[in-house]
Amino acid sequence: MQTFTLGDFELIAVSDGIYHLDGGGFFGVVPKTLWEKKAPANEKNLVPTGLNSVVVRTGKQTILIETGIGNKLSEKMAKFFGQPAELLKNLAAAGIAPEDIDIVINSHLHFDHCGWNTIRQGNNIVSTFPKAKYYAQHGEWEHAHQNQRDSSSYLTENYDPLVESGQMTLLRGDHEIAPGVSVRIYPGHTRDMQAIILESGGKTACYISDLIPTSAHLELNWVMAYDLYPLETIESRKRYYAEALAGKWLTMFTHDPAIPWAYLEKGEKGKLAAVAP
Ligand SMILES: [Zn+2]
Repeated sequence: MQTFTLGDFELIAVSDGIYHLDGGGFFGVVPKTLWEKKAPANEKNLVPTGLNSVVVRTGKQTILIETGIGNKLSEKMAKFFGQPAELLKNLAAAGIAPEDIDIVINSHLHFDHCGWNTIRQGNNIVSTFPKAKYYAQHGEWEHAHQNQRDSSSYLTENYDPLVESGQMTLLRGDHEIAPGVSVRIYPGHTRDMQAIILESGGKTACYISDLIPTSAHLELNWVMAYDLYPLETIESRKRYYAEALAGKWLTMFTHDPAIPWAYLEKGEKGKLAAVAP
């Protein structure tokens, strides 16, 4: 389990396990001969994919960024993607019980980012983190209810019960959730995907989510086929890199199977590299 000290904040990388995505979906129009050097695929063209959450202890609150796939997938989906369901076990290993979480933030509402928001209890769906305030974007939630290209990635039981009970707040755009903890919209993967920005002691870290899902996706135009607005992904990445490089931000990767976070540096040929802190 990796930890990192960001000013007064303690960051703990906790995983929901490894699942599998189709390499073509994961790397879009990038030729396989290029991407397979960075992300080797198995005989079914599947690439091991991380489900990285981050716990932030601010000193006042315990915040959970992202909740993985969870344990409620249908048999069909579980067969296709896998359902490792390791988040609660890994939180417990870090000494964190569900009751300890004060705030949960979802970057967006695809099934592999908010699965542990809720669990099944008998015939009911209840929140996994009973004392937590949950945050997502209103536009993302609206989109989840429209029958879009990515509708199969949305499972309403991960958020609608929380919206109905008032436990989930739907934000409208950039917002500060707690001192030093804010969200910022970076469109591309979805229209309203939000990154989570942490600032403490003059240092900044950013959970950039599916805008740059792994350290193999640093090239501007290595855009996932899943992205709804690929040209906006590129524009959002430009905006992100300008700020993250200048400010020496720690970038946290949602789907990297090995590296939960890294600094970004420009190498000799101007190529971006992920450098371990
Ligand atoms: Zn997504």
